[in-house]
Amino acid sequence: MTDKTQDAFEPVDTPTPRRKPKPEVTTIGGKPMKPSTLMMGHGYDPMLSEGSLKAPIFLTSTFAFENSAAGKRHFEGITGKRPGGAEGLVYSRFNGPNQEILEDRLAIWDGAEDALCFSSGMTAICVLMLAACNAGDVIVHSGPLYAASEGFVAKVMAKFGVTYIDFPAGATREELDVVMKKAKAQAEAQGGEVPLIYLESPANPTNALVDVEAVKEARDAHFDPDRCPIAIDNTFLGPLWSRPLDHGADLVVYSLTKYVGGHSDLVAGSVSGSKRWIDAIRALRNTMGGIADPNTAWMLLRSLETVELRMQRAGENAEKVCAFLKDHPKVERLGYLGFIEDERQQDIYNRHCKGAGSTFSLFVKGGEAEAFRFLDSMKIAKLAVSLGGTETLASLPAAMTHLSVPDERKAQLGITDNLVRVSIGIEDPDDLIADFAQALDQV
Ligand SMILES: *Cc1c(COP(=O)(O)O)cnc(C)c1O
Repeated sequence: MTDKTQDAFEPVDTPTPRRKPKPEVTTIGGKPMKPSTLMMGHGYDPMLSEGSLKAPIFLTSTFAFENSAAGKRHFEGITGKRPGGAEGLVYSRFNGPNQEILEDRLAIWDGAEDALCFSSGMTAICVLMLAACNAGDVIVHSGPLYAASEGFVAKVMAKFGVTYIDFPAGATREELDVVMKKAKAQAEAQGGEVPLIYLESPANPTNALVDVEAVKEARDAHFDPDRCPIAIDNTFLGPLWSRPLDHGADLVVYSLTKYVGGHSDLVAGSVSGSKRWIDAIRALRNTMGGIADPNTAWMLLRSLETVELRMQRAGENAEKVCAFLKDHPKVERLGYLGFIEDERQQDIYNRHCKGAGSTFSLFVKGGEAEAFRFLDSMKIAKLAVSLGGTETLASLPAAMTHLSVPDERKAQLGITDNLVRVSIGIEDPDDLIADFAQALDQV
């Protein structure tokens, strides 16, 4: 017999063709692609991972060198013996494939040159501050800040001889000039500099916006911009509703735990900005650790694919819910960026914000008892701290997150016993309105 059919299990002589990397495409029709398009593929080539459409989770502590010379070359790069920095991956405290893809994609949203991911928002903030400061320095910051950030500046940085001066979030250019002069004098007296201006906008829970453009003008007038970056915590409005790098900030900080992660199932943080600042922060992260783990980075890649959709929906829902709450007889007032009453705050909003967000303060008529009745009556909204998730959350700062804040400071910040903090999710808006309506009826 000449015609032989192949036996089962006999090896077939048709080798699988070797997969080839594809060049990255970032423009279409001569125009750069939008972030929402780039989130599906930027920085990852399936052909380098067996064709896997989604990036695999790379669970490894270390990376093999191609040969000894490549290993030496790498260490020459990271130790500064050769300019250009590290090439490729070497050890997972420094970076990994999932985190690198995440960092590339995070940078896109802010229009930043580079980004770093961290194991929490607070790790990002702490490493940033430690990287910026020397003993004797003064941090200028807006107030109030997220409580842990404020505590880190006032208590931990103080241990290393770093002091601070704060200014109210809504400060004008004239008020900022006074603060910058004071900070300069304080730094000179301490034998240090002002190496960082740190902002948070909108402030929590007051929702007061910082005028980033005015801060940049004041910084440029009083300090060397090359020695004093402006960093801003953009967790509440970023990356969709505010792009602070466009208004003069140098670094943007996130708790990715909130809107970016968006599913209330992870804790992570990031810093993005120009390479010169990012490289200094990276050097400290390389030493300390604190990079997000591969699994969390992978989950954030999932999250980034829908961040625009989720934030748009949450923003629309918040607009509808707040329209309903605005004139409700059981509501004293609302702290919502869609209904700003102050002229100066409205001006900052118009220049800096593309949307009012979905986190706001609801002042229930009455005191703690009425606020508790309202919260305990909610059927859809969950009673929990945090924000920016797919589900609607509500909490009472005075009795929860801000319980330990002295009464005097609470009064100063307007944190009253009837202030309910709400973060609207992506549920059906009519269901949400019905839930708020029935819970207010119980007050
Ligand atoms: C939650 C939050 C942080 C801290 O982030 P973690 O991820 O919890 O460490 C910092 N800033 C703001 C504005 C936040 O809301």
